Amino acid sequence: MNNQDRWHAAMQNNYGVPPITLVKGKGAEVWDENGKRYLDFLGGIATNVLGHAHPVIVKAVNGQVGKLAHVSNLYSHKPGIELAEKLQDLTNDATARVFFCNSGAEANEAAIKISRLTGRNQIIAAAGGFHGRTTGALSITGQDAKRAPFEPLLSGVKFVQYGDVLAMRKAVSKNTAMVILEAIQGENGVVVPDPGYLRKVRAICDQNGTLLAIDAVQTGMGRTGEWFGYESEGIKPDIITLAKGLGGGLPLGAMITLGEKSPAFKPGEHGSTFGGNPISCAAANAAIDYMVKKELLKKVASSGKYLRVMLAKVPGVVEVRGRGLLLGIVLDSNVATAVATKAMSNGLLINAPAKNVIRIAPPLIVSKKELGEFVKVFARTLNEVLNG
Ligand code: PLP
Repeated sequence: MNNQDRWHAAMQNNYGVPPITLVKGKGAEVWDENGKRYLDFLGGIATNVLGHAHPVIVKAVNGQVGKLAHVSNLYSHKPGIELAEKLQDLTNDATARVFFCNSGAEANEAAIKISRLTGRNQIIAAAGGFHGRTTGALSITGQDAKRAPFEPLLSGVKFVQYGDVLAMRKAVSKNTAMVILEAIQGENGVVVPDPGYLRKVRAICDQNGTLLAIDAVQTGMGRTGEWFGYESEGIKPDIITLAKGLGGGLPLGAMITLGEKSPAFKPGEHGSTFGGNPISCAAANAAIDYMVKKELLKKVASSGKYLRVMLAKVPGVVEVRGRGLLLGIVLDSNVATAVATKAMSNGLLINAPAKNVIRIAPPLIVSKKELGEFVKVFARTLNEVLNG
């Protein structure tokens, strides 16, 4: 049996059967079981910030696993404390308080629970938004097809059009515990709101005593050229949720409260066995240290600019949207799935979050040469799909 048949015979079919089996990676390159090489422009879906097998991650993980892998949350450990302090520094807020978990959905679950501590139980989220697959996170996910089979979900959740300030103003009241939004809707096809949107939502939340949570699971950890994806709006949210890039490729999530307005968990109110384990925290510390030392955020901005300029010239591309290295390439026809499939056979990993949109989220360390290779192979692939 090949690996696809073995997968099918042993696994739930929630992902369908993945067409290839990857065996190793280095930087922005991966290889499958047949030795075929791919340029990885999806980065584990915006997760492998330093690419595959980066020496600083390998060293941090190997060093930590040989010392202390798991302690439970009955005891503290240095990598966890160090990481929480780093996140405090990055948010520029000494009042920031961090809860570690393992994933984006869990980070948002923690945010939902924090919002309940306001004594209010209404949450406003955005149509098209994505916050995860656990029951609570799914309840605030504005995508009907994902929610419908699992209803009834949490009550008290209202969805408004993303980017529509008026709709937000109408929806938020003194009963609203929390508004939760992505700075860019990644899973919905890299949808970017108008400048000023988050700032206006911040003001609406302030007028109503409502918490503003930014789900930076996909947009965080330097992906947009900022640490958390909202800084260019000049706002400070009350809650940030993180995962994906946070662990430098290892499973790690975080829910961070900022400022004095957000309630905080008391002992016994929340927890996670593996959340913030020493190995993932050591990897996260190494990733952040490397990003700071190499000034990677500047590189992300310039790599993103280069891609936008080059991709806009490709026939069949009508728009390139997003920020930094989270980009949606909008096509002039609904061929995105065919393009992603063809790209794989051409040695390029990308995906199609919408019928006419290709998403790219390469490792933040991607080289100029690899950016050039990507544009070339992508243009050839799109031409093959459009012109046979
Ligand atoms: N929030 C956002 C914005 C995401 O993009 C995702 C995953 O794509 C999640 C939450 C869920 O994260 P996880 O799959 O780690 O639970």
